[in-house]
Amino acid sequence: MTGFLLSGNIADMKNNLLREIPSVDELLKSLELKNASAVYSAPLVTAALRRAIDKARGEIISGRRKDVCASALIELTFEEVRSMLKPSIVKVINATGTILHTNIGRAVLSKDAISSIILTAEGNVNLEFDLEKNERGERDSHIDGLVKRLTSAQGSCVVNNNAAAVLITLNTLAEGKEVIISRGELIEIGGSFRLPEIIKKSGCILREVGTTNRTHPKDYIEAINENTALIFKAHTSNYNVVGFTSEVKLDELVAIGKAHNIPVVEDLGAGSLIDLSEYGLPKEPVVRERVETGADVITFSGDKLLGGPQSGLIVGKKEFIDKIKKNPLKRALRADKLTLSALEATLKLYLNKDTLPERLPTLKYMVRPIAEIEVVANKAKELLSIKLEGFEIVIEDSESVVGGGALPGHNIPTKVISITHKDLKPEDIMRLFLRNSPPILGRIKKEKFLLDMRTVENPSEVVPEFK
Ligand SMILES: *Cc1c(COP(=O)(O)O)cnc(C)c1O
Repeated sequence: MTGFLLSGNIADMKNNLLREIPSVDELLKSLELKNASAVYSAPLVTAALRRAIDKARGEIISGRRKDVCASALIELTFEEVRSMLKPSIVKVINATGTILHTNIGRAVLSKDAISSIILTAEGNVNLEFDLEKNERGERDSHIDGLVKRLTSAQGSCVVNNNAAAVLITLNTLAEGKEVIISRGELIEIGGSFRLPEIIKKSGCILREVGTTNRTHPKDYIEAINENTALIFKAHTSNYNVVGFTSEVKLDELVAIGKAHNIPVVEDLGAGSLIDLSEYGLPKEPVVRERVETGADVITFSGDKLLGGPQSGLIVGKKEFIDKIKKNPLKRALRADKLTLSALEATLKLYLNKDTLPERLPTLKYMVRPIAEIEVVANKAKELLSIKLEGFEIVIEDSESVVGGGALPGHNIPTKVISITHKDLKPEDIMRLFLRNSPPILGRIKKEKFLLDMRTVENPSEVVPEFK
């Protein structure tokens, strides 16, 4: 009985509160909101006020709000104005230990690429204008010479990303026809890039051969018929097939392709322009070597190992690249001026291999000496210990990864700062760091929250403000 009465009273109280909410017009007449309208524009303030009132209403109904005075609603309106004007894309600190993390924008661009983007964004540029001939030019011409020099390919073309590069290559060279690919290479890359689906969407017919773990040259040869347009090879970039396995190497596929007059296309994924084994890392396929082995067309990402902006590069024999460039899809998938200028600046760095590791952040982080990481870790630990009371903060040995579908299964030794607290779960600590401005991203391993210093340049960046 009492319970019923009580809830009846609460319902009455809530209804009274809801009725007491001042009207939009009334609140807009307040001095504060009049001033705010002059600064932020009346439509924005009105919209914020409506959102503030809706929010207050919700809070009253759920029992969290007990007052609806004008000043509280005005304060809420200012909060809404601030949140509407706040950018949604914000800087985050990458202490995850993944150098190329797709969810936080993969490659950190070089200073040169950044300057180039600013220059291009600030004014007009000769994007499709040939200044010498005083006539319309081609946007890919700005990087074509560089790409050809760096890969020894006859032709090149740039699109929005590697998924687009695969799509347009397949559509141009094999629409309505069969594409042969090993069952061991029917890859899925995170974020819904599944090769069988891309093949279908590009209008081609998938012809799977071999088995998941073993495919032989004869599997390809037996699948060839009058409707075969392409032999396709995909770099299994985010996993390793180990054990009783056998794949047909690119040179063998090239030989089969030549014998049957069928082009061979390779999706390299990360596609490195340099041999990483020279830096003590495991070897990833080098684009130039694949071109020299005889692949007719090769596609790879611009923002993975290459360390540039999001883009997809297509290189290969001139006759095929020319066809791809003429495909109407090129117009839909082309790269924009900011991308092209950043890509040009990034590729230029490769012309001087001596300075590349210091100027290209992706490579810098991959080859960063452990002693240097330790210096940052020591300083960060010191700062964190001052800031965080009651936490246990220690430096530990751990392992970073390259990410972005490059060097799967390879871990690079690193130094991390482990942060634990006797009353907090690692997820709680992670949330504390995420709530910082800018958010600090770490990782959880074995019930510990870890900050990996491999990609951190300035130790104070991993120290939260706790406002
Ligand atoms: C990453 C990757 C892709 C997709 O590249 P995006 O640039 O992300 O579109 C395609 N194929 C392979 C083998 C990859 O590793």
